[in-house]
Amino acid sequence: MSAYDVVIIGSGLGGLESAFILCKEGYKVLVLEKNRQLGGSLQIFVRDKAIFDTGIHYIGGLNDGQNLNQSFKYFEIMDKLHLQKMDMDGFDKISFDGDPIEYNHAQGYENFVEQLSKQFPKEREALKSYVKQIKEICDYFPLYQLRADEAPTIGTKYLDINAKDFIASITPDVKLQNVLAGSNPLYAGDGCKTPLYVHALVVNTYIESSYKCIDGGAQIEKLLTKNIKAMGGEIRNYAEVTKIVEKDGIVTHIELKDGEKIEGKNFISNIHPATTMGILESTKIKKAYSNRLLNLENSSSAFIVDIVLKPNTFEYRNHNYYHFKRNDVWTAMYKIGNEWPDAYCIFIPKSSRSGKYADSMTVLAYMQYDELKEWQNSFATIPKHKDSRGESYEEFKINRAERLIDEAEKKITNLRNVIQSYTVSTPLTYRDYIGARDGGLYGIAKDYHDPIRTFISPTTKIPNLFFTGQNLNMHGVLGVTVGAIRTCGVFVGQNYLLNKINKA
Ligand SMILES: Cc1cc2nc3c(=O)[nH]c(=O)nc-3n(C[C@H](O)[C@H](O)[C@H](O)COP(=O)(O)OP(=O)(O)OC[C@H]3O[C@@H](n4cnc5c(N)ncnc54)[C@H](O)[C@@H]3O)c2cc1C
Repeated sequence: MSAYDVVIIGSGLGGLESAFILCKEGYKVLVLEKNRQLGGSLQIFVRDKAIFDTGIHYIGGLNDGQNLNQSFKYFEIMDKLHLQKMDMDGFDKISFDGDPIEYNHAQGYENFVEQLSKQFPKEREALKSYVKQIKEICDYFPLYQLRADEAPTIGTKYLDINAKDFIASITPDVKLQNVLAGSNPLYAGDGCKTPLYVHALVVNTYIESSYKCIDGGAQIEKLLTKNIKAMGGEIRNYAEVTKIVEKDGIVTHIELKDGEKIEGKNFISNIHPATTMGILESTKIKKAYSNRLLNLENSSSAFIVDIVLKPNTFEYRNHNYYHFKRNDVWTAMYKIGNEWPDAYCIFIPKSSRSGKYADSMTVLAYMQYDELKEWQNSFATIPKHKDSRGESYEEFKINRAERLIDEAEKKITNLRNVIQSYTVSTPLTYRDYIGARDGGLYGIAKDYHDPIRTFISPTTKIPNLFFTGQNLNMHGVLGVTVGAIRTCGVFVGQNYLLNKINKA
């Protein structure tokens, strides 16, 4: 008899939330994480006492009564989170080269229309129509509203509509079109591919409400981990799963890097489905199924400069910036070499120790994975957490970081004078530390041309092997939470689980 009802591979948000749900329902759960730090993209790191997020810069839907707030009540973490509500009248500011105006995305739908109508006075009706339709689209996805007793899977309407075309249908004003889609690095928006529902579900959650995690998103991991352990769940770090072994149609055990075998009744993979296929030893999975997963394209990657600011030099700002060099927000990810960077985002973490001033700043720009071709066969050494890709890689990082800082300084006047030091992450950093395939920011890229192809079911061809995490439904804190509900719904019943969440 195996000791575990469920063995979860990966301690990202999806793995931890699934562990919580199943522990609460009485399952004996083990979570295995390859890194020292738990949480995947929830992790933080510290440089010169400043805290940086790996992958959670702000979160939506956390006001009382909103979907993530209710889910986090169920996970017993909502009242313990340290949050900073962002600027009501402009939590995101969108700007363009050659145009001094910063266009505001405001919290609350009426306010969203109000603030943008000030900047686009002729477009009030178009803005009203935009928010009405965004709300309608979101309503079509019952799981995102935590609604039970409805179609348990994601709806099919709206899946094959292109986001860029939809926004263009709202208004002929090209600047406003670009402003409405200006936070699209949140979902790696690609004008030729991104479906409307992806745009709608993401912008909706932030328009509802926008918060930063004070001192970073790792608090979500810490609280979930504590709750899982309190219910008897086990979590092991430095436990890289290298084999998932199937015999007679079911997975019998997994194998760790050091050869240790761990048996279980069920296995949930919180890692990329293609990576899962790569470590699965099975005769049951057909080539066509694993090839489909292996060939899915991943979302664009990013190059990130995390800047430690000199103490008391830069006043904290309670909003993010999305800046584009051209009046086109949909193609920035394709710019490489001398044309890079075509766009960037600035996030300013909120720290509990610095009060009026900010400790740090993160500047993020898309970067194609292939820009790092030269070093793709090198791997960062874990757990030493040191890059070992040679001098040419270090030169590349410095060259690109300096170019990105030059661009950011056009917006943040005097930026260079307030920089104490900086650290760089590339697509290879995300690939090696988080296991992000091709360094992709948000896992599998969604494509409106063939939307069903990019939907991953929580169940697989092997009855006791499941998926969870950002590749299932959507990425982001909300998308992954909905994914965990779907995965665990297979175990305990989706409506039963939704009822419990709604009653929490
Ligand atoms: C730069 C960046 C910025 C982002 N900003 C935001 C934001 O502001 N707001 C927001 O809501 N979302 C944001 N996201 C998205 C969000 O962080 C992710 O969608 C989410 O955290 C992914 O969770 P996950 O459950 O899929 O697991 P992941 O975070 O992908 O974690 C997977 C875990 O599995 C582990 N693992 C991998 N292989 C193995 C193995 N073989 N054995 C054991 N363990 C293994 C990894 O080490 C990792 O811990 C951002 C993402 C990135 C990259």
